Amino acid sequence: MLVRDKLFIGGRWVAPSGSETLEVHNAGNGQVMGRIPAGGAKDVDAAVAAARGALEMWTQTTPEKRAEFLDKISAGLKARADELAKVIAQEVGMPLKLAGRIQAGLPIANFANYARLLKEFSFEEKIGNSLVVREPVGVVGAITPWNYPLHQIALKVAPALAAGCTVVLKPSEVAPFNAFILAETVEAAGLPAGVFNLVTGLGAAAGEALVAHPGVDMISFTGSTRAGKRISELAAQTVKRVALELGGKSASVILDDADLAAAVKGTVNGCYLNSGQTCTALTRMLVPDSLYQEASRIAAEVAKSFTVGDPLSETTRLGPLSSQAQLERVRGYIRKGQREGAELLAGGAELPDGVPAGGYYVKPTVFGKVKNGMAIAQEEIFGPVLSIIAYRDEEDAIRIANDSPYGLAGAVWSKDEARAQRVARRIRAGQVDVNGGAFNMNAPFGGFKQSGHGREAGVYGLEEFLEYKSLQLKGCKFKIFSA
Ligand code: NAD
Repeated sequence: MLVRDKLFIGGRWVAPSGSETLEVHNAGNGQVMGRIPAGGAKDVDAAVAAARGALEMWTQTTPEKRAEFLDKISAGLKARADELAKVIAQEVGMPLKLAGRIQAGLPIANFANYARLLKEFSFEEKIGNSLVVREPVGVVGAITPWNYPLHQIALKVAPALAAGCTVVLKPSEVAPFNAFILAETVEAAGLPAGVFNLVTGLGAAAGEALVAHPGVDMISFTGSTRAGKRISELAAQTVKRVALELGGKSASVILDDADLAAAVKGTVNGCYLNSGQTCTALTRMLVPDSLYQEASRIAAEVAKSFTVGDPLSETTRLGPLSSQAQLERVRGYIRKGQREGAELLAGGAELPDGVPAGGYYVKPTVFGKVKNGMAIAQEEIFGPVLSIIAYRDEEDAIRIANDSPYGLAGAVWSKDEARAQRVARRIRAGQVDVNGGAFNMNAPFGGFKQSGHGREAGVYGLEEFLEYKSLQLKGCKFKIFSA
């Protein structure tokens, strides 16, 4: 049983202002795996005061010094990588081996990457008679979800610290233990007091208090579109900068000249990663009418090859969902798909056989004959549920792909690379994989439309936490449009 009863504020582990706690459940068996403090407005006040108090000092450190701390944090997380993978596998449900590579591996790499980027990044440039300097935006409130919990945290905390900002982190209450490990790592790295602070609690309490706080300059949020809208409204009262990484309903467009087997397999894998609890999941597979039967057959076959089971078991390819609420939500969508008239080609709403009792398991599911207007094609399900949609021609495919309130990601498959790129450019989304192109941690990540605004990762993510300031210098002749 993991019990945490303190918050990390001002460089110390302090008791929360109230006595309420939140239970955290093991996705694999539904049992309580631990407890955390349910922090509230008073705790947020203390954390913001600590972050403000440290801001001036931290903004004045050199990039080299900040890079040193980031490298130390990366090394500290690396030393605890196995523990992190195991905790997150249980919190979220991702199979352990994959959790080691992604859930622990990516944050370790991102902290190190920002140390590297800091050494190359130019914080000023000369434009005519102006010196344009990049300054940290100030105190950052970071609010993160549970699906890739430490990765989402790292994509905010590492670039914010790199930029010279101080941070108050409010992690997901569903998967919070990895954030405590990060706070311990930060403490061990000797980061000055107040530069990084951790307050756990519910979104409606600790989260909203952080968003509304006048001492916070920016909110960087990853989570649902529903919460993103509420955060935008609240943050507007104090005119905060807001970056939003929200949901998705991404289309995988398989063109008529694609390697069909590879494209379908790639799409199903992209849909089922982390049991479908991935914001960029390829949940709509668009296939030409002429290839619909064959594509459906392959998709059902690939889906059935996924072994569902305990995330800690070696043989598991599809772990459970993260919570009872998620389980009910996903099963509800599967039933809705059937009611809407889609054809169930694999899986279904019943619990899978042979899985540990009490865990939040769902069958890998494929729907055929889906119309893009159906709820299962428009709404984010966040489970292993693929919708296959047939299209007439390339224009029709692009129209369907873009007929979504979301615009986070997508994929295009064609043996003709130029054609694939041409279609990819017409998809209104922040990230489009061409023929299964690999994930790139230095490429900008973020959404169009209701998938949010702002970009994370690489140098683009660093720039999110910087303000421009221009110093108009004497000694140069005044020039209109000087450059
Ligand atoms: P969520 O919106 O319920 O919660 C995310 C975080 O926000 C949690 O820490 C929660 O406590 C907090 N929160 C909730 N309501 C809040 C409020 N009113 N004010 C302040 N904070 C609040 O989302 P979730 O269920 O944890 O995560 C799943 C969602 O996240 C999915 O929609 C998924 O697509 C999205 N997501 C997006 C990305 C991306 O980069 N675009 C990445 C991962 C997840």
